[in-house]
Amino acid sequence: MNSVIEIKKSALENNYRFIKSLVGDDVTVCAVVKGNAYGHGVEQVLPALQSYGVNHFAVFSSAEALQCFRYLRDNVKLMIMGFVEHAHLRWIIENEIEFYVYSCEILKSALSIAQLVNTKALVHLDLETGMNRTGLTEKELDKCISLIKKYEEYVEVRGVTTHFAGAESIANYVRVMDQYSRYKERIKYLEKHNIDIGSRHVASSAATIIYPDTRLDMVRVGVLLYGYWPTREIWIQYARSVKNHSNPLQRSIVWKSSVMVVKDVEEGEFVGYGLGYQAPQDMKIMIVPVGYVDGYSRSLSNNGHVLVNGQRADVIGSINMNMVLCNISDHDSVSPGDEVILIGAQNGNEITFNSFAEMNNAMNYEILARLPEHVPRISVL
Ligand SMILES: *Cc1c(COP(=O)(O)O)cnc(C)c1O
Repeated sequence: MNSVIEIKKSALENNYRFIKSLVGDDVTVCAVVKGNAYGHGVEQVLPALQSYGVNHFAVFSSAEALQCFRYLRDNVKLMIMGFVEHAHLRWIIENEIEFYVYSCEILKSALSIAQLVNTKALVHLDLETGMNRTGLTEKELDKCISLIKKYEEYVEVRGVTTHFAGAESIANYVRVMDQYSRYKERIKYLEKHNIDIGSRHVASSAATIIYPDTRLDMVRVGVLLYGYWPTREIWIQYARSVKNHSNPLQRSIVWKSSVMVVKDVEEGEFVGYGLGYQAPQDMKIMIVPVGYVDGYSRSLSNNGHVLVNGQRADVIGSINMNMVLCNISDHDSVSPGDEVILIGAQNGNEITFNSFAEMNNAMNYEILARLPEHVPRISVL
């Protein structure tokens, strides 16, 4: 294997317990596992989280729901927060999968299929409150209310939701609070129309931390579960609120590879493709069989770092499709087969996703989600 991604289950457990301790027993923690569980792998993450007590999961699409379904224990809920393919609707309804109603069309299609199979579609009403992405406008909500009343044997409202347009930055404070007010007004409106609203949920990781009011009946937590703060701002706000400033989260991923070749390069020689790196003196380099095909971004060319034998080694030259070259001139001894850490800790040194993300000018979310499915994931304690 060119590289493997180890998923530390103890870290997932720690993060889940931390979130649970924040929100308390009365608030459900819905684990967001879209994007192949933020790159960690649903095959590893779903069984682990269920064994720690998670019984509600969320994905983006019906295709992702299909992928996750086989790992779910009985009575564990799965919720689709976005794209529902019409062809999947029957499977969704028959298997009691919950889904967001973000347009009247979806509700209509769902109702006709629910009638056909003689059961109830389990829906969450996704309200447009100011993000202007998906969600029911006031007019559409009225139409949905009529449909729900008319076909009440075929639909159960499991929840009412909206999504904030950037709770992870205080710059969006006014916009987010306006959304929250609008959401609360619509909840009242639904109650006035005698709609049983089920679970009220709006908060993702950021809002769960900085707007405790918005935790309501359920929080939909993704990035925190995997051990990352949504943004540095959220971490700082959290740290200010507690006496002990140590990070309660643990990162679950260790991404490793091994040394393929070690070689000497003479002063003045160019290394790798083109003129991207010229040896400033006689050097020793190592080649690691990981490249941008594995999600090791080209923007780490001449810029990233890895660990080998616990020591940092700089990436030199450009990231190739399948290989990366690193400077090990100052290292004691490195041999082919030695473990190389791309992300994670070794002998007390660490390459964090956070530093990786900043080097890479991308957010944790994007880097995690880009970890390709072909890199094998293995669960470790
Ligand atoms: C991705 C997503 C979440 C989780 O976001 P995190 O910041 O990772 O906690 C919650 N709700 C919706 C609708 C999402 O798309």
